[in-house]
Amino acid sequence: MAIHLHDTRRGRKVPFEPLHAGKVTMYLCGPTVYNYAHIGNARPAVVFDLLARVLRRRFDLTFARNFTDVDDKINAASIETGKPIDEITARYMQAYNDDMSVLGVLPPDVEPRATQHIDDMVAMIRVLMERGNAYEAEGHVLFDVTSYKDYGALSKRDLREMIAGSRVEVAPYKKSPQDFVLWKPSTPELPGWDSPWGRGRPGWHIECSAMAARHLGDTIDIHAGGQDLVFPHHENESAQSCCAHGGADFARYWVHNGFLSMDHEKMSKSLGNVVLVHDLIKEIPGEVIRLALLGAHYRQPLDWSEDTIKSAKRMLDRLYGAVRGIDVPAAMRAEAEPPDALIAALEDDINTPKALAEFFALAKTLNKAVSADERERLAAVVLATGDLMGLLQYDPEHWFGGGDVEGELSADEIETLIAKRNAARAAKDFATADAIRDELAAAGIKIEDGPEGTTWRRSD
Ligand code: AMP
Ligand code: ZN
Repeated sequence: MAIHLHDTRRGRKVPFEPLHAGKVTMYLCGPTVYNYAHIGNARPAVVFDLLARVLRRRFDLTFARNFTDVDDKINAASIETGKPIDEITARYMQAYNDDMSVLGVLPPDVEPRATQHIDDMVAMIRVLMERGNAYEAEGHVLFDVTSYKDYGALSKRDLREMIAGSRVEVAPYKKSPQDFVLWKPSTPELPGWDSPWGRGRPGWHIECSAMAARHLGDTIDIHAGGQDLVFPHHENESAQSCCAHGGADFARYWVHNGFLSMDHEKMSKSLGNVVLVHDLIKEIPGEVIRLALLGAHYRQPLDWSEDTIKSAKRMLDRLYGAVRGIDVPAAMRAEAEPPDALIAALEDDINTPKALAEFFALAKTLNKAVSADERERLAAVVLATGDLMGLLQYDPEHWFGGGDVEGELSADEIETLIAKRNAARAAKDFATADAIRDELAAAGIKIEDGPEGTTWRRSD
């Protein structure tokens, strides 16, 4: 049975077939790095990490997830905090990867950064201008949406209706209100690069098009992201890539995750109702968060609450409980495969609720098994399933031992980190000092600065 995915453009679940037999390319729009990721941002990272794991069982996958490290929000954060842009982006890229790894997200094959692909963007914009798909106006380069007949096909919008329904345009130099920026001028204090259109910086959409083309080719198999990105971000990426590549299809399958809400309100930085992964992992094991995010089908909305977390914790306790105390021989462990029904559920548009039901059924069978052989064999299957889903990565004794399940730091290591932090503080390098404090906190270590120096304790 082929893998099936729900493709946003076709509006239905379809069998998945890569462009080149045996090889798959996948691109996921990554974070804009000016802040810590919230739990909603983690949903696409976790869900599409699982898809990548499932694809790798069958295909040679190249998975790219970018960092948007040039953006007006980053510039604003720099002005607000007085910190250089590079420092902000470096810090939050690191934090993103650290936080995601606690959630069991494996590193993608490529992590392109926008600022390292400016040449590719400029080249792509030049082609778009040569082909009549883009025009220059008042130092900006804009994509002419009327030049692309399929504009709106991904998000199911009609361009004429969009134009007719537009409010009075704030940028009078645009030919159509839907025309979007490929390149914009920069003032001297803002980041900028020389280009045929003067010193400037790229628009957001062109970044992903250029990075996807550079690392994955003109046509990619799967393009993933949150539902909010369908329009305008993905519609625009698709339009400009297709036009720059002589009509070649940009992405063959578009997959989008539903939104995570809190108390039934969308979680977003602008609404201010965010729970940062960075904070949450100080309190809750990463696997609990991962399981909670995988508990609902990825296209459905997911409401985040105390109950979501509690029930994920209970579920993990059941799974860890099932394998606890069973010594699985290494060879058996290495050969074990997840059950067919569970793989089939994941290959059916990442049906995690069904896959988890299979997982629990398996654990239940294990709990009932009597013979030592059978218990070992089933425990090996449970652990193999955990490996695929990014769960059960701790020793069960450690899991139930309470305290820090994220990797225990020794007293020596803690003292060393505290000494380094105090040195950084003395040197007024607060970024490093904060990063060390965060690292300690993530490892479950609380520190307190007092007149006698810095003390620490393991949080409970
Ligand atoms: P941003 O940094 O806002 O561009 O978001 C990074 C990724 O997180 C994008 O794929 C968004 O679609 C996704 N995202 C943002 N907020 C949520 C949310 N509340 N629920 C699910 N996904 C989200
Ligand atoms: Zn993108």
